[in-house]
Amino acid sequence: MATAPEKRAWTPTDSPWETLGKGMKLTLDSDELTHCMRCGFCLPACPTYRETGREAASPRGRIALMKAVNDGLMAPDEAFVDQMNYCLGCRACESACPADVKFGRLLEQSRAAIHEHAPRSRRVRWMENFFFRRFFPSRGKLRLAGALMAFYRKSGLRWLFHRSGLARVILPEHLRQMDEVLPAASSKGVVERTGTFIPAKGESRGRVGLFRGCIMDVAFAETNCNTAELLSAAGYEVVIPETQTCCGALQAHGGDEEQAKEQARANIRAFKDAKVDWIASNAGGCGAQLVEFPYLLRDEPEYAEEARRFGDRIRDISQLIASGNPLPLGEVDACITYQDSCHLRNGMKVSREPRQLLSAIPGTRYMELVESDRCCGSAGIYNLTRPETSMSLLDGKMEHVKETAADLLVTTNPGCLLQMKLGIQRAGLEDRMQAVHLVDLLAESVRKGTRASDENEK
Ligand code: SF4
Ligand code: SF4
Repeated sequence: MATAPEKRAWTPTDSPWETLGKGMKLTLDSDELTHCMRCGFCLPACPTYRETGREAASPRGRIALMKAVNDGLMAPDEAFVDQMNYCLGCRACESACPADVKFGRLLEQSRAAIHEHAPRSRRVRWMENFFFRRFFPSRGKLRLAGALMAFYRKSGLRWLFHRSGLARVILPEHLRQMDEVLPAASSKGVVERTGTFIPAKGESRGRVGLFRGCIMDVAFAETNCNTAELLSAAGYEVVIPETQTCCGALQAHGGDEEQAKEQARANIRAFKDAKVDWIASNAGGCGAQLVEFPYLLRDEPEYAEEARRFGDRIRDISQLIASGNPLPLGEVDACITYQDSCHLRNGMKVSREPRQLLSAIPGTRYMELVESDRCCGSAGIYNLTRPETSMSLLDGKMEHVKETAADLLVTTNPGCLLQMKLGIQRAGLEDRMQAVHLVDLLAESVRKGTRASDENEK
């Protein structure tokens, strides 16, 4: 009678895949892996499982793969790496998990080992190093990119690029559409526009450090200025430390853990000197990374304690505004719906306050979006690396958006905001709907409210 083959422990050799296996054993948190009880509650929440119906593309399946590598039962291969990269990192599985498995951390640990050991071309390595280590952490390079993007729009180059048909030849459809919805970037960020200190108005609610981000401060600098203005109107004194840098989320999600740690240390130093009660984030992706600093630096005695204090102070802008002085909100005549930022909802566990603030704007009708908690497919650079899945998720989301008949589609993260703009364009809804950041909508309402009360006083 034939007997089942015995499960043999993998024997390491010098092949790159087996080196990756060894690397994963060193980076993966074994305790966290064993928390998974394989109940499958996370499966319906997972967009890649819903797309494919395949266990390997589910959180439970990915954890099983990681565990098999960690236990030496399987050597990682291209299919393994592909499953790790196919994951959106949306962490919807974490919110659904009764055992509180920190899937996001396991995913980043796997990607860190992949980044370090998996074979890939020199070109890809060069690109990763350039963007992760030189571009996003450098304020100067970001400013230059902002200036070039502004020139591209204002000079008519973008118009020419699309009208000449060159865009159609060079870019795939989703990138062409993305180019059309890119915001008016600028070389001037929030510090250049408002300075590093904004005094509080009304009763004092404390001192807040504003985290300005990287892309946020180039492509959405106006939103950063509005954030400072809202915090001030809600009674917070605002400081913007100039030495802060990018949060490191893109680096951590891409597997460059060392660089993410480097940026965590720099941010901790920058905000320690600012002596603030809270640190405000207006981008879900950044906020979820900032609260991870204590975990990221847990083994560094010099930083662990300060990282814990830093993490405790992080608040999303909606939490600070909701607990600050009431804002002088004016009327906005619009039907509004809201798309959660996955990292704000699943990482920072903030979903109530943005809805509460939206419902408080006079003149608005709020319509809850079906599956607002499902990822829109933006997921960092996922819409560039996995366009097919990303667009499929986005187009599915827009079907639900249409049902709301909203005038304004509100969200709280720059990536989600761009993806929503893209979705509106793909669905042909440009004439009846706009995508807007929560902060910008609140700021518009405050301006209207302030104008109305000034006129009443005259
Ligand atoms: S992070 Fe998102 S895509 Fe990845 S396994 Fe969890 S739910 Fe699925
Ligand atoms: S819900 Fe949690 S415990 Fe259950 S299979 Fe998914 S990750 Fe594992």
